[in-house]
Amino acid sequence: MRQHEMHDVVIVGGGPGGLTAGIYAQRAALKTILIEKGFPGGQMAATDIVENWPGHENITGSELADNFLNHAKAYDLPILQEEVSAVEPGLDHHLVHLANGEIYPAHTVIIAVGGSPKKLGIPGEEEYYGKGVSYCAVCDGFFFRNKTVVVVGGGDSATEEALYLAKIAKQVYLVHRRDSFRAGMILQKRVMNETKIKILWNSVLTSIEADDSGVSGVNIQDVQSKEQQRLATDGVFVFIGFKPNNQLIPAGTPMDADGFVMTDCKGETTMPGIYVIGDLRQKYAKQIVVAAGEGATAALAAAHFVHAKKGSS
Ligand code: NAP
Repeated sequence: MRQHEMHDVVIVGGGPGGLTAGIYAQRAALKTILIEKGFPGGQMAATDIVENWPGHENITGSELADNFLNHAKAYDLPILQEEVSAVEPGLDHHLVHLANGEIYPAHTVIIAVGGSPKKLGIPGEEEYYGKGVSYCAVCDGFFFRNKTVVVVGGGDSATEEALYLAKIAKQVYLVHRRDSFRAGMILQKRVMNETKIKILWNSVLTSIEADDSGVSGVNIQDVQSKEQQRLATDGVFVFIGFKPNNQLIPAGTPMDADGFVMTDCKGETTMPGIYVIGDLRQKYAKQIVVAAGEGATAALAAAHFVHAKKGSS
């Protein structure tokens, strides 16, 4: 076990919230480290086109993620690629434990680990993950050139990804459990106008089938008539929302019924000096711009916290 020197702020997670917090923390001259188990960028990096990041009418998710990362690097933000296993709150300072046994003590911790795709929980979904079942069109869409795919969901993600897949696949079936979309109006209109997308309203997948070459079809039920039909398809893309990655949140921290963390307006939890930002924080709108704003807010609040603590010690 190796204990590192005390940091002013440890940021856990390298999506738009975490990277923005890193930029602000470096600008505030805090001793900072950002720890991310994968590649920085988060969900933003796996998005095709981002059209609502102010200042860019249209930018690819990977380019925007690169911009965030390069901006953070320009401020010499230390970024460590390791998995955090626990955040242990303390009265004087907190401990960030890594899966490799190392420990980072910190005056403040900003947790920005977002969410993970929700699963349908139907037969075939888990078995055929990677063999035609996917949760990322930008990552896997390439394999479905001129093929047929089914997209499940009715929110911004499902409609956006169905439009992306329509540029690649021969036919896209968009299966939604209700008769109206949750997605924003612009995306709804685009989906309705895309001739390659066929919408199956009031419908749910009941199982996914495969043969030796991967996914071969899905069984779909009409939720009103209860009629079942089999649809031949080469792929199934599931976009039915995200569940919060709240495993690192210290016990006793208030969360809503869905597991999103409740904080004050600074992003601070009931544990002084522990902040939660981005998609893991309970809020009205999950957007890149909101996560970035929360990153800035939490880093400024952390700076105030650290200066007040050091000034009084
Ligand atoms: P979402 O908004 O929660 O939508 C999930 C969709 O999946 C809903 O249409 C829901 O149906 C459906 N669904 C949920 N559980 C289901 C199940 N078990 N079986 C079948 N369908 C199911 O999730 P999201 O689209 O991933 O978006 C997450 C957040 O990120 C949202 O706040 C969204 O605005 C934001 N986002 C924004 C953008 C953008 O601004 N361009 C892009 C992507 C995501 P019901 O409608 O019936 O509940």
